[in-house]
Amino acid sequence: MAWRPHGRARVSARDPRAFGICDRCNFQYNLQSLTWQFEWQGAQLQNRRILVCPICLDVPQENLRSIVLPPDPVPVLNPRPPRVPGEAGPTPPPPTAASLLLITNGGTSHLLIDDDDDRLIVVP
Ligand SMILES: [Zn+2]
Repeated sequence: MAWRPHGRARVSARDPRAFGICDRCNFQYNLQSLTWQFEWQGAQLQNRRILVCPICLDVPQENLRSIVLPPDPVPVLNPRPPRVPGEAGPTPPPPTAASLLLITNGGTSHLLIDDDDDRLIVVP
């Protein structure tokens, strides 16, 4: 009777099992003890299609998992955020028929015509 090396596989004459080679360490195991290696790809686990022994089986790396952000909150109607001094500045008056929009390098201003003196007033 010929014997051959069987590595880490268990051999039984009454309960024969197939042999298999680990794809990482190349040791011989019973095929039923080899498992598929999974890895995170996107938001789900993906089978890498390699059979590995229990020693070589890796835990899927969480850093490869995509972060699924929740949806943005529903905006509120007529929001009133707190005013921060110096952030946005005073609100310019609404343009009227007698005002002109002045655009300069420093920003935009309104030119208002004073009805009493017929002078031009610059409102930032
Ligand atoms: Zn292995």
